[in-house]
Amino acid sequence: MTNLPRVTVWNEYYHERRNDKIAEIYPEGIHGAIANHLASQGFPTHTATLDEPEHGLTDEVLANTDVLFWWGHMAHNKVSDEVVEKVFRRVTEGMGLVALHSAHDSKVFKKLMGNSGALTWREASEKERIWVVAPGHPIADGLGEYFELPKTEMYGEPFDIPQPDVLVFISWFQGGEVFRSGCCFYRGRGKIFYFRPGHETFPIYHDKNVQKVIANAAKWAAPTGTTDVFSYWDRKGWHRPEPLEPIEVVREIEIEHPHE
Ligand code: ZN
Repeated sequence: MTNLPRVTVWNEYYHERRNDKIAEIYPEGIHGAIANHLASQGFPTHTATLDEPEHGLTDEVLANTDVLFWWGHMAHNKVSDEVVEKVFRRVTEGMGLVALHSAHDSKVFKKLMGNSGALTWREASEKERIWVVAPGHPIADGLGEYFELPKTEMYGEPFDIPQPDVLVFISWFQGGEVFRSGCCFYRGRGKIFYFRPGHETFPIYHDKNVQKVIANAAKWAAPTGTTDVFSYWDRKGWHRPEPLEPIEVVREIEIEHPHE
């Protein structure tokens, strides 16, 4: 038995099947690489991909997922709105979501952010230095002041997201740009972590520091506390309580109320 959260790693899984060089980097797919690493750390893991029925994200799979990792790039629009809605609801009900790299442009991330997720980018195999700007945050556990990736795709500001609730990492790129590369958000009862590294043509998810962040993020994003409290989606918890202290209830003007 483990107390670690149950993780589902979702991947559109197109690049790895269409390009031999990418398949060499990720012979079991990006989802396979991430799931294998998390499994080696003791996390119960499951994987799901776009071409499976319901994209592999059935009600049963979602109900048994504490934290969902999301990797997509070239096929965001092939993800059905119905599945997006279900994932969105589960996040507001407490499921964690870790949005990786190009998931900044995924339907579900944009819906949760309420922003376009737009950014600038350049593919030049340049160096990235990822600074920890929230030392002591659980997602930065075990890292130094910064870590580096020798070859990456650049993502630059402005990044069209709401200001993160906690900013954990800022990236610097050899070409001069900076980027908010590790961002925590709360939506309803759910926690969301956006983590930038992960372009498919580089072995990013085999990097030891990246793997550390991924395991830390899975732990951080896991639901905490009870989940039987009312959610945004039902009116179970909506009520007009009797005052705890004696007060005179005055309603000078009676109005019709939608909940009565
Ligand atoms: Zn990319």
